[in-house]
Amino acid sequence: MTNRVDVTNVAKGINVIDSGYYSKDFAAIYLLRQRNKVAIIETGSNFSVPLVEKAIIEDGLSFSDVAYIIPTHVHLDHAGGAGELMRRCQNATLVVHPSGSRHLIDPSKLVAGAMAVYGEKKFREYYGEIIPIDSDRVIEAEDNFILDFDGRVLKFIDTPGHARHHFCVWDKETKSMFTGDTFGISYRDLDHQNDVYVLPSTSPVQFDPEALIQSINRIMEFKPERVCLTHFSAIKPTQRVVNQLIDGINFVSNLAKKYATTNEAESIIYNEMMEYFLNGLNKIGFSNDDFSKNRLKLDVQINTQGLIYWQSK
Ligand SMILES: [Zn+2]
Repeated sequence: MTNRVDVTNVAKGINVIDSGYYSKDFAAIYLLRQRNKVAIIETGSNFSVPLVEKAIIEDGLSFSDVAYIIPTHVHLDHAGGAGELMRRCQNATLVVHPSGSRHLIDPSKLVAGAMAVYGEKKFREYYGEIIPIDSDRVIEAEDNFILDFDGRVLKFIDTPGHARHHFCVWDKETKSMFTGDTFGISYRDLDHQNDVYVLPSTSPVQFDPEALIQSINRIMEFKPERVCLTHFSAIKPTQRVVNQLIDGINFVSNLAKKYATTNEAESIIYNEMMEYFLNGLNKIGFSNDDFSKNRLKLDVQINTQGLIYWQSK
């Protein structure tokens, strides 16, 4: 516990740390500081909690200064640590999408769903014990909800498409949008010079491509200077980046429509999707395909499952 936590500042009062979930720089946690208060956007898992605490202490504050804990949606790489964080941060209020709140107040369905995917052993390894949250400490943020975070305006917008229980958070002061998984996935170690590549996240079980594209357009109406992705960190949402993302959504949706009900759907979709993403990375000049394949394998695997589920409905 003597090493410092790697903290990157992305804008005024916005720091990002690696949650430690799955692999290095896979899932981010954002720490917003406003005067002597902290808001935590995304929680990682229970195992991320000591890292969050260290980062806050290194910034001269403590868990008692945490005012809000804000998972963008209730998938467990975003909200798995919420209960444990709420237990440790006694003055904090949880802000969550109205369709997700009941799953954090009583996580039994969330746990059962994830156990069905991972099996109990892997589940415990990734998430430990999911702690329920007292409903008295929960705010449900409807579309356009405004939170006054100690004088700093945070606006919540409903952004279905990746999941129906997903909102994005707009920080007016820095023109930053915290996009969870709505604005896709883009890793900084796959950048080439100043170019980034972003790919969609189509995780089970509520992928909806039309809603997702609408949500991306809604995000862009705010003219954000940066989008703060959970996987991983902040990027500038240029038109080129938006096009990559929307092209990717259309490509994988068509892939699902074409192959989801065929034999070997899983391996065909996985391979074609991986090839498409590698191609996209090659186009920005990132040509280490072996590195990319390894970096993207879990995302492509989860995307494949989500696409097959979407077509099976
Ligand atoms: Zn998700």
